[in-house]
Amino acid sequence: PRKLQSILVTGGCGFIGSNLIRSFFSKNNFTGTIVNLDALTYAGNQESLLDIEEKYGNDRYTFVHGDINDSELLAVTLNEYDIDTVIHLAAESHVDRSIEGPAEFIKTNILGTFTLLEAVRAYWKNRKDVLFHHVSTDEVYGSLGETGLFSEDSPYDPRSPYSASKAGSDHLVSAYFHTYGIPVTISNCSNNYGPFQFPEKLLPLMILNMSEGNSLPVYGDGQNVRDWVHVRDHNEGVWKIITSGLAGSTYNIGGGNEQTNIDVVQTLCKVYAEITGKEESDVLSLITYVKDRPGHDRRYAIDSTKIQEELGWSHSVSFELGLRETVSWYLNNMEWINRIRTGEYRDWIDKNYSER
Ligand code: NAD
Repeated sequence: PRKLQSILVTGGCGFIGSNLIRSFFSKNNFTGTIVNLDALTYAGNQESLLDIEEKYGNDRYTFVHGDINDSELLAVTLNEYDIDTVIHLAAESHVDRSIEGPAEFIKTNILGTFTLLEAVRAYWKNRKDVLFHHVSTDEVYGSLGETGLFSEDSPYDPRSPYSASKAGSDHLVSAYFHTYGIPVTISNCSNNYGPFQFPEKLLPLMILNMSEGNSLPVYGDGQNVRDWVHVRDHNEGVWKIITSGLAGSTYNIGGGNEQTNIDVVQTLCKVYAEITGKEESDVLSLITYVKDRPGHDRRYAIDSTKIQEELGWSHSVSFELGLRETVSWYLNNMEWINRIRTGEYRDWIDKNYSER
């Protein structure tokens, strides 16, 4: 396996990045350093890494406040910290926001990825062993019918400005491998869940609304199908790829766990009721169907055979257990949530989830 000494994570203050940094530092076989470069957009929260800052802030962990569109800063950071692995997570990540205003998605996800690739290309001239790992989504493959699974060979068919911008970034990353020979890997992952997720996303939104007795907005008929994977399992997949993956390869990561949205919300209600001692029927009665999202993909499901067979990855967190842990985490971390629920966030939620 590749030995990792100095990792640059972009977007490390977001949901997946903060979990990734924490889980890498907890590994016995990782003794290197991590530099976290993040622009701290509405979705970036330094507080998610306070424990890491305290424990490793003087030597093994460095935060750099900056934008992936700042090429000078990228060049300085790569060289100053002698980076051997870049894990690129920084992105605009919320589909609904991309429908309201696609510009930021193009700027960060496409132009930002391009700027970062250019910085790595210059750096790579003197550092041939650098690996660029790009974290992407299964949404680039579009929507499935009742059956079938996305594999690494599925054609790209993005349907939202978000997934189109991620698809564009994936193509750029793979072009840098084929054109320049820069060692890159890509992972396309299904819906992640777990702690530290910004409360506009389905699970934290529902848990918060349950705790406040507010309605639980479900899009359309609730029959859209998603695959869910715990963020810990996703990050373990990224670890396997950056240590043992083959340059130029794409790996799909999924939880083998297809659920309709309404099933997810109902299971969440059940788990929430059990944990809090509330009446399950009272929690379920908060479910409200709202107008469907335009271009809403019907079904995603992912075939993770390649990463399982080639890199020995498998998911380890069962959905029910993962949900239980996630609900408890949000209920025990209300302060974290309340501090990020700014006026802007509240207005946005109110505007976008008005009842039918
Ligand atoms: P997030 O929105 O929680 O975090 C994104 C982070 O990127 C934030 O900390 C933000 O401040 C930072 N950022 C945004 N623009 C930036 C810029 N221009 N320069 C530097 N930093 C910037 O997102 P997430 O859910 O943690 O997703 C991380 C990555 O994983 C994204 O690339 C996303 O497309 C991908 N992904 C997410 C999921 C999921 O279910 N959440 C699934 C598959 C893939």
